[in-house]
Amino acid sequence: MRYISTRGQAPALSFEDVLLQGLATDGGLYVPETLPRYTPEDLMALRGLPYDELACRVMYPFVEESIAEDDFRAMVRETYAGFAHRAVAPLVQLDANEWVMELFRGPTLAFKDFALQLLGRLLDHVLEKRGQHVVILGATSGDTGSAAIEGCRHSKHVDIFILHPHGRVSEVQRRQMTTVLSDNVHNIAVDGNFDDCQKMVKASFADQSFLEGKTSLVAVNSINWARIMAQIVYYIYASLALGGPHRSLAFSVPTGNFGDIFAGYLARQMGVPVQQLVVATNQNDILHRFISGNHYETGKLQHTLSPSMDITISSNFERLLFDLYGRHPESVVQFLKNAEHGAVSLEKDRWQSARGLFDSLSVNDERTCEVIAEVYGETEYLLDPHTAIGVEAARRCRRDATVPMVTMGTAHPAKFPDAVTRSGVPREAALPEHLSDLMEREERFTVLDNDLATIQQYMARNWRHADS
Ligand SMILES: *Cc1c(COP(=O)(O)O)cnc(C)c1O
Repeated sequence: MRYISTRGQAPALSFEDVLLQGLATDGGLYVPETLPRYTPEDLMALRGLPYDELACRVMYPFVEESIAEDDFRAMVRETYAGFAHRAVAPLVQLDANEWVMELFRGPTLAFKDFALQLLGRLLDHVLEKRGQHVVILGATSGDTGSAAIEGCRHSKHVDIFILHPHGRVSEVQRRQMTTVLSDNVHNIAVDGNFDDCQKMVKASFADQSFLEGKTSLVAVNSINWARIMAQIVYYIYASLALGGPHRSLAFSVPTGNFGDIFAGYLARQMGVPVQQLVVATNQNDILHRFISGNHYETGKLQHTLSPSMDITISSNFERLLFDLYGRHPESVVQFLKNAEHGAVSLEKDRWQSARGLFDSLSVNDERTCEVIAEVYGETEYLLDPHTAIGVEAARRCRRDATVPMVTMGTAHPAKFPDAVTRSGVPREAALPEHLSDLMEREERFTVLDNDLATIQQYMARNWRHADS
C-alpha cells in the first residue's frame, strides 16, 4: 500500500516512511492511496475473532510491504495483551440499543493506548531493521504525553521528550508521565503554558539542526497515519459484536483532532455498515459549527472539563476534506488557505453529502456534569467527562432508535476526578489496580525555562546516545 499527501505536492511513500515522517513535506497529511474493501462475506468471516487477531487481519494490508506478517502478528499480540480487560474493547449497555465501548482499558486509561502501544513497537521494529535512531518530541496538556511515553518506554531505538506546562496538568496526568523512569524517557516541565510548549515543538520540527544530523524527530500526534490505522479496528469489532454485517450501527465519538472519528469514517469506507457518525465536541466547537451549519472558522481556545478535546483546529479534518473534494488536493489547499483569513464554507452539495453521514453536538461543562449525574442515576455507571459529551450527543442526535448507538468511551473516569466530583455523583472514581499506587511512586522530570535554545540544548545533550 502506498500513501499520498492531502496536498498533492509530496512524494507517495511506503508505510514505514509514513510512520517515521508524520507530516508530509508539503504540509499535508498522508492517507492510503486506496482502501481495502470488505464484502459482507468477508466481514462474516471475521466474526467472533479475538481482538488481537481481528487487529492483525484488518491492519496487515496497510503495512504488508514494510513488515513480515509473523513479526506484525507478534507485535499486535503483545500490544493488546497489555490491556486490562480480556475483550480489550468491551461493550457496556446503558439502555435498549445504547452502548458505551470502553476504550480505556489500556495502560494509561485513554483510547490513545490502542494506537500508541502499537506505535512504539512498530517504530522499534522498523528502526532496528534500518539501524537508525529517532527522537519523539511532543507537547501535551494531558493524555497524549502519557500514552506516548508508555508506548515507547521499552523502545531501544527511540528517545522520547515530552513537554508539559509546569504546574498546569492534573496530578494524575503528570504522574502518569513522570513516574516512568526508563532511560529513554525525558519529561520536561516548561515554565509556560501549553501553547508555548506547542510552539517550541513546531519550531524544532521545522529546523532540526540542533540535533546535528545524529538523529531525527518523529511526531506521534494523531497526524501520524499509524494511529488512525490502529483505531479502525475497534469500529469493526463493535459492528461484528452488534450484528454486523447484516445490521447497521451508529457511533458517537468525543472529538478533538478528528482522529478517532476519522477512523470510524474509514471503517465505513471499507464496507462496515455505519449509518451515522456523531461528532461530539465540548465548547471548542469548530467541528460542530461546520457539520451543523457549514461554517468553518477557528475560534478562541477555551479550557474545559474535557481537556483532551480542547483544540481550535482539528488537524485530521483535512483528511476528510480531501475525500469531500473528491481527492482533489488543489481544492484542499485553497480551502485551508481561505480559512486562514476567516470563515469558509464548502459547496452546498459537498457539505450535504457529508451531512448524509455526520451529525454533531457541542456540550458545555455544566451539561457535561449533569450527564455524568444522570447516567449514574440511571445505571450506576460512571462516565468520564469526554465520554459524557459523547453520550449526550448520541442521545440528542440519534436518527433511528432501532439502530444500535455506540458511544466511544475515550477515558476512564479516574483520570478526570474533578468533573466527577463536580457532578455530585456519590462515588469516587478509583484508579484501577495497576495504577493504584500512582500517587506514591517516584517522579522524575526537569523544569526548564520557556526558551527554545534551552530546550533544544537539553535535548541534544540528553538523548541516550548523544555522545557516541
Ligand atoms: C485525545 C482524546 C479525545 C479526542 O480524540 P481525537 O482523535 O483528537 O478526536 C477524546 N477523548 C479523550 C479522553 C482523549 O484523550
